[in-house]
Amino acid sequence: MDDLVKLARTMMVRAHAPYSKFHVGAAVRDEDGGIHGGCNVENSAYPEGMCAEASAIAALVASGKRRVLECAVIGPGPEVITPCGGCCQKLSEFAAPETKVHLCGPDGVHRTVTLGSLFPTAFGPRHIA
Ligand code: ZN
Repeated sequence: MDDLVKLARTMMVRAHAPYSKFHVGAAVRDEDGGIHGGCNVENSAYPEGMCAEASAIAALVASGKRRVLECAVIGPGPEVITPCGGCCQKLSEFAAPETKVHLCGPDGVHRTVTLGSLFPTAFGPRHIA
């Protein structure tokens, strides 16, 4: 888990957050053990910004992987942050309800929860099968 948290921390530093000044980093572990990071990327047209988790998932998919086995999310302050609702939906496309999500601060993991506990009634591929 340390590699995941370290990458998430690096991603947080690289965030493009000139408007909110709220830097977020995320990292996800794929089905082969590789890790992929992402950061929030804000835009002057605010709705066009992207969350850290979304950009980490995009990096995973772009590398040819399709499963998220573990996730770490890190924010800049002492308050633990969680993935937003949209990111829970994005994670649920590639992760199982029991997938661990590590909620981190700059000093490391504060709490580990499951995606299912964050997003218990996810809409998923089974709904449109
Ligand atoms: Zn989000």
